Amino acid sequence: MVHGRRVLPESTELTAAHWTSGASGRLLVQRCLQCRRWSFPPVPNCRHCWSGRLEFEPVGGKGALTSWAGVPGPRTAGRLVGIVDLVEGPRLMLGVVECDPDDLRVGAPVRLVFENVDDRIWLPLAELEESDLFEDRIEAVS
Ligand SMILES: [Zn+2]
Repeated sequence: MVHGRRVLPESTELTAAHWTSGASGRLLVQRCLQCRRWSFPPVPNCRHCWSGRLEFEPVGGKGALTSWAGVPGPRTAGRLVGIVDLVEGPRLMLGVVECDPDDLRVGAPVRLVFENVDDRIWLPLAELEESDLFEDRIEAVS
């Protein structure tokens, strides 16, 4: 699905619970009932043990930035995509918003925010936690 200048995820029977979960303020991520590992994006069978017994579980929305990159192309100038490891364990690839690229660091704390695109898609995005807090934490351990 193309929305404005972006390509957005497709909401299907399999993925609808995930993409609409932002409406409640908590992201639902698929988790395997057999091996307890996470799968993102949602899949019909666990990507780790191939079990078909999967459920959606809410995550708290806090994590750490692992890596990031600018999105190439003239129409996407300034857009950033990052890999975020959530506290609960799942690793998500998300747009990174409301930040100065110079403030990004590996391990920087981020939180999930949601952009309500339409009634089928609440797009999870990563926002850098207050940089003041981050500075405080650096001082606290030095
Ligand atoms: Zn599994």
